[in-house]
Amino acid sequence: MLTQNSCFSFENSNHKRSPSTTTYDLVVVGGGIVGCATAREMKKRRPEFKIAIVEKENELAKHQTGHNSGVIHAGIYYKPQSIKAKLCVEGLHLSYDYLNKNNIPHKKVGKLIVAQNKSQVAQLDNLHERALQNNCPDIKIVDKDKISSYEGKCKGEKAIWSPWTGIVDWALVCNHFAKDFQQMGGDVFLNFEVTGFAEAEDSSAKIDSHHIRVLSKSKHIKAKHVLTCAGLHSDRLAVMSGCDKSPAIVPFRGEYLLLNKEHSHLVSTNIYPVPNPKLPFLGVHFTPRINGDIWLGPNAVLAFSREGYRWSDINIRDCIDFLKFPGFYKLGLKYTYPGMIEILKSAFYSLAVKDCAKFIPDVKTDMVTRGPAGVRAQALDRDGNLVDDFVFDYGTGEMGKRILHCRNAPSPGATSSLAIAKYISNKLEKDFYS
Ligand SMILES: Cc1cc2nc3c(=O)[nH]c(=O)nc-3n(C[C@H](O)[C@H](O)[C@H](O)COP(=O)(O)OP(=O)(O)OC[C@H]3O[C@@H](n4cnc5c(N)ncnc54)[C@H](O)[C@@H]3O)c2cc1C
Repeated sequence: MLTQNSCFSFENSNHKRSPSTTTYDLVVVGGGIVGCATAREMKKRRPEFKIAIVEKENELAKHQTGHNSGVIHAGIYYKPQSIKAKLCVEGLHLSYDYLNKNNIPHKKVGKLIVAQNKSQVAQLDNLHERALQNNCPDIKIVDKDKISSYEGKCKGEKAIWSPWTGIVDWALVCNHFAKDFQQMGGDVFLNFEVTGFAEAEDSSAKIDSHHIRVLSKSKHIKAKHVLTCAGLHSDRLAVMSGCDKSPAIVPFRGEYLLLNKEHSHLVSTNIYPVPNPKLPFLGVHFTPRINGDIWLGPNAVLAFSREGYRWSDINIRDCIDFLKFPGFYKLGLKYTYPGMIEILKSAFYSLAVKDCAKFIPDVKTDMVTRGPAGVRAQALDRDGNLVDDFVFDYGTGEMGKRILHCRNAPSPGATSSLAIAKYISNKLEKDFYS
């Protein structure tokens, strides 16, 4: 695990109870931050419900939730009125409330988005406008000569200052959500990889149309309704209940560099570039971590495995999956040049450091080492468009319509998790329980 302080004891229910002995009102597939936050929210709303989380790994938060920048985003970038924009700002406030109430270590270190030239200044002004429309709190423009009063060594033409942006260990937060959930009576089953769904049969072998068997290799769990929040595998879970393959998940690794400890004093806040509007990711940035480390990154390179944290991680099934999907080739055509540049910068990280040195000129290649990586579950449609907003989908048929899939919960999904949990719970209440 790459996260700090993420070791947090919650009780795995496997040893207490066999999952197949109970019929759950709701089973949540996926023990990342979206699944755990939503299971917790539903248990709060419906204490009488039997709810379980099933997770394929032997710990929670093992994938995107445990491999990210650890930033509490303030909602600057997202298209006004999009679900993403609304849930990020709501999630920001809910997160700070939760972190404060639960004494979870976090810091409101702020964030600078720094323009380096005239065309970026124009984009920065647009971004500022967007942040205001999104109700992003206390955002302000910083002129060139004032940038160093926010970050001593930082250089640029103009910047946006976001005082509410913070840092936290999201894996730790996810484990807290799971602990709350268990304390309210919820069950968490680890090492439970969902392999399919089937109608449950009653003892007289007749189909019981009210129950779903959530299947794993040698066991199953019975549920009246199912919610899947499976991150990098969300499309596979959706297809299992009859949904279309699109949007498909294409894994993109984000690799970080680590600033050597003796130079950590150079960075005290998050420093981001103005994002290139033609590219889907925010760009390589400086991020202070809760343990005092400074990370530079992440880049964005195609991963040959959905859980491929290194170039050498190759999963044939995962590669066949994206190679068979028509949208993948269209995406490749659109992003051939930036894709090649990203690969080059991954191979020769001095090139990535050169980008970072535009912001902090004191940073040199010999001050950094290769750091950890995360893999983004990037949703892609058949036309090769990267899907930016949240996507929900129901399965098909009598059984499928009782299974709700969260197919896309991209960054800032961790920041938004408590708001996403409310959003999904409203949907569950309306569609399943009203
Ligand atoms: C490099 C990177 C940087 C990011 N930076 C930030 C940031 O700074 N701030 C921010 O707010 N967001 C950030 N994000 C986004 C954020 O991490 C995600 O939006 C969020 O973690 C998504 O949570 P999730 O629960 O949907 O997915 P995940 O955390 O991936 O959880 C899904 C879970 O489902 C389980 N699962 C999958 N298939 C099955 C199955 N068949 N059976 C049982 N279990 C299954 C997986 O094992 C996994 O535990 C970043 C993401 C990445 C990759």
